[in-house]
Amino acid sequence: MKVLNQKSVLLVLTLSIIIITSSCRKKKLTEVVEVPLPTTEQKMTIGDPEDVKAAEGAFNVVKLPFKYDAFAPTIDAMTMEIHYSRHYLTYTNNLNKALAGTDLATLPIEELHKKLDMSNAELRNNLGGYYNHSLYFEILTPKGEGKPKDSLATAIDRDFGSFDTFKALFSDAANKQFGSGWAWLVVDKAGKLQVTSTPNQDNPLMPSQTISGKPILAIDVWEHAYYLGYQNKRMKYIDAFFDVINWKKVGEKYDEAIKK
Ligand code: MN
Repeated sequence: MKVLNQKSVLLVLTLSIIIITSSCRKKKLTEVVEVPLPTTEQKMTIGDPEDVKAAEGAFNVVKLPFKYDAFAPTIDAMTMEIHYSRHYLTYTNNLNKALAGTDLATLPIEELHKKLDMSNAELRNNLGGYYNHSLYFEILTPKGEGKPKDSLATAIDRDFGSFDTFKALFSDAANKQFGSGWAWLVVDKAGKLQVTSTPNQDNPLMPSQTISGKPILAIDVWEHAYYLGYQNKRMKYIDAFFDVINWKKVGEKYDEAIKK
């Protein structure tokens, strides 16, 4: 019995050692080594906004004085590049084509809006597409100042009560614009600031708008403007957009608009 017992103890010990060793081996085998995967952006070569030029015609793209990756994380480099070098450039070239050889070809941009026949879909879409994107890219800066200053700050307080009330109104207009479109801060005929939104590539300079006026700030809420970074969360994009507004530029546009 004694011998048997000793044998059993030995057997149990041996089995335990085997089990412990194999479980350690398993652990080692299942250990995961973290290797950073290349992101889509790293795989893609990002171009230079300096290289974007319209084909021959009356209008050219406004200069984007920053690299495409300067606006990250608010707006990622790929979204910026596709938006500026493809969408905006296409509207610009198509506007030039639509105007070529017509008696509208020599008119300044605001006159073109005044004279626009809203049933001319080709001109309406490309004129708006050009004007709206020009304003959008003009008022972007990687380091937004957070809030407007001087005369614009005073006018916002006067016409909306406070900057926060204006921000809430503007954000709401942008968020509630059904489908593709834009939200705007405009100076109306009386010199008063108003918030409005428009569908597609329409804008407040075009005939028959609910709220007409000279736009000084625009947010593009077409999905191509935010989908890579924000997917369906449009409100997150709108909120982040406030970090990249060049309020100095918007202020200059305000001062110019009230002079007229
Ligand atoms: Mn756009």
